[in-house]
Order: sequence, then C-alpha cells, then structure tokens
Amino acid sequence: MIYGYIYKLFCLDTREMYIGSTINLKKRIQNHKEMRNTNSKQIINRNNYIFLILKEYWFVNTEHLWAIESSYIDNLPCVNKKLALSNRNDTQKKYNQKYKNNNKEKTALYNQNYRKNNINYYKEYSKKFNLLKKECNYCKKYYSASYISKHIKICKSIPSSSV
Ligand SMILES: [Zn+2]
Repeated sequence: MIYGYIYKLFCLDTREMYIGSTINLKKRIQNHKEMRNTNSKQIINRNNYIFLILKEYWFVNTEHLWAIESSYIDNLPCVNKKLALSNRNDTQKKYNQKYKNNNKEKTALYNQNYRKNNINYYKEYSKKFNLLKKECNYCKKYYSASYISKHIKICKSIPSSSV
C-alpha cells in the first residue's frame, strides 16, 4: 500500500486546471517548478493559482494511483488530458483500462466508504481551504493568500471607476 494524493492546480488568471498525482507532495511541487514549458509549470509561474488535494488515501500501488488519477483527468476539463496518457507507456495504459474495467464496483464502493468515513475531514479541509482565499478590499474578488498582497498593490493603483 502507498499513501498517495490526487491534486489539482487551478490557475486564477487563465482558469486552466491541471490534475496530478504523487506520493510526495513537497517533491512534486518542486518537480513542477523545475520542469520545462509544461502546462503545470506555466500555472505555477503565473503565481496566481489554487492548489487543492482532490483525494488522498492508501492506494494498492502506483498503478492504482494512476488509474484513479486518469479517471479524474477523463472527467474534468483539465489541460493535461492528452499529456498524462501520452507520457505513460502502453503497458500502463492497458493496465489502467483493465484496472478500471475490473474494479469499477470495487472502486466505487471504496470511494463511497472513504467519503462516508471522512466527511468531517473533508468539511474541515474545505473550511481551511476557504480560509486560504482572501478577498481584495478594492475589487472584492478572491485571490490566493500567497498572491493577494501583490494583487492589492496593483489593484489599489487602478482608479475604482475602471475596475
Ligand atoms: Zn483587487
């Protein structure tokens, strides 16, 4: 078993969404920064994004993590739709398909139970997550806590009639 994360990067500038998975969050963020010209790097470089964990739990193995990740990619309007699949070799693709077909019910049940058992955790998590967003006093829009001070500097220099 491995403890893994499915996460999303959401760019507040372009509304682009990137889905990823990892077993080491810190390392993964670092990797994104070091990558060349990927969608995820562009999102991070624009520095106005939300990082949100969509799911975290004990996965059977890496392939299980990938299978769940790819089901997110399939179902969400994210920028890495094609990338994630082409980055993976055929064996992995076949495994994903086989896994999905063989484990539809099992995974659904597992997810259902997981959600049931963790509903309070999710509530707490989204509460905390909402706290990370800060409202700009000038334009009344919401920005990530890490970006808001930068934004305010720009925002307050713009005459309010043009906002
Ligand atoms: Zn503002």
